[in-house]
Amino acid sequence: MQDQVSICVIGSGYVGLVAAACFAEMGHRVLCVDNDEARVKTLREGGVPIYEDHLPELLARHRGGGVEFTTDLGGAVEASEAIFIAVGTPQGDAGAADLSFVEAVVSEIARHINNYKVIVEKSTVPVYTNEWIQRVLRRHGVDPQNFDVVSNPEFLREGTAVIDFMHPDRIVVGAGTERAANLVRRIYEPLVGGSYYGQPGALPGALSAARPAKLLITSAQSSELIKHASNAFLALKISFINAVANLAEAVDADIEDIAAGLGLDRRIGPGFLHAGLGYGGSCFPKDVAAFHWVAQQRGVNFELLQEVRKINEKQKDIFFNKVLSALWTLPGKRLAALGLAFKGNTDDIRESPAIEIIKRLLEAGAMVAAYDPAAMERAKSVLPPSAKLRYAAGVYEAAKGADAVLILTDWKEFAEIDLVRLNDAVRFPIVIDGRNLYKPQQMLDHGFTYVSVGRPASYQAQQGKPRSGVL
Ligand code: NAD
Repeated sequence: MQDQVSICVIGSGYVGLVAAACFAEMGHRVLCVDNDEARVKTLREGGVPIYEDHLPELLARHRGGGVEFTTDLGGAVEASEAIFIAVGTPQGDAGAADLSFVEAVVSEIARHINNYKVIVEKSTVPVYTNEWIQRVLRRHGVDPQNFDVVSNPEFLREGTAVIDFMHPDRIVVGAGTERAANLVRRIYEPLVGGSYYGQPGALPGALSAARPAKLLITSAQSSELIKHASNAFLALKISFINAVANLAEAVDADIEDIAAGLGLDRRIGPGFLHAGLGYGGSCFPKDVAAFHWVAQQRGVNFELLQEVRKINEKQKDIFFNKVLSALWTLPGKRLAALGLAFKGNTDDIRESPAIEIIKRLLEAGAMVAAYDPAAMERAKSVLPPSAKLRYAAGVYEAAKGADAVLILTDWKEFAEIDLVRLNDAVRFPIVIDGRNLYKPQQMLDHGFTYVSVGRPASYQAQQGKPRSGVL
């Protein structure tokens, strides 16, 4: 018999909405709250406001049953045993996380605690936020017997969020009391005990009834640091491989071979060793900054994180200079920009290197035809309307008459382009690939000049003999 927990998830963004749908999938009763009325209306009417594999399927399965959407935070808190906070924690001044959304939500929760509740920090927050939440609740007169605050950071990746949630590498819980830890354990029991994986219709993934999810219980401070340290370490891996890529390029080596050689070492692992335009998105940039800020506040030298950030910023300059080197001048040049999202398989454009590159190209006078399989609507809200910018309906339309094609996001669709058709569409066969989606020889065979990251550029025959070399 399923042990059902009544859960309130506050925030219906990438994390809140996925968590709400997944908790319902585990058999719990979920009230998902947002103060964005239009978003709640969309969700109630069957819409799915974010692009995420499996999310439409789960929402269709549980909407109106296991999961309901509301703007009534108070009512949802009163009806729930566990309250998950999943609102944004954007970058504030001097790199610190801006916790004003969290504080606003906690103040509102305080007014509605009518019996014992466990308040769970799901948002990514700096160490000691747990303490602060407790303090705010007490200041609002909430009886300390009536609540515990638990840290349960989220490690999902956009693009694979639902599967990551249902098949997590680990579930981390930072709890100060056994009572609170037990409630969170009950919530995740279908994954930790493995019953979910044996269920008909269970979403398939890496875990199974025989190999269920691992739950790590620790203190709130350790749990908060685990999240920041995880993101900072992944960002560090990306900056590291990008720095090696720049060196590889300077000595005519091939970063793809180097990454393969590094990744085969089990102590290093192959993940996050993809050279390219650098990391973006709503997490790594702000979390690296926030983690550095935390260290500074505590008098701990963690300048390594500043270097991680600087290398990441530099990658965009390096790419922009590659475009310049390939095209000589930019005013009036027609460029196809493939990709707007910060990475493939998501419509999220927050801190997207692609958006930044496009802005710079437009400022430099280029004409850009942009295409992204999912992020075009969101991009329109941040890229200023311009006669020099148009949105194309597909790869080949974007490439029509282009002086060069730029690959800015690692969508699968961009790794599977019909190169013959692409060559027919463009004015000049030049591809500048910020995501290393092709092998240089393959591009050369299709008549393209191909410039990528951490590999020698290849020039096609019309511009001289086919050869390898550095631009
Ligand atoms: P998001 O911006 O997509 O969603 C936040 C939601 O909270 C929005 O819908 C907003 O309307 C709502 N909200 C804000 N204030 C509210 C209030 N007072 N009452 C009700 N709703 C309110 O953010 P996200 O990407 O889901 O990230 C949420 C948190 O999770 C952040 O701390 C982030 O760092 C962390 N996180 C994000 C990811 C990711 O991949 N996006 C992964 C792991 C952790």
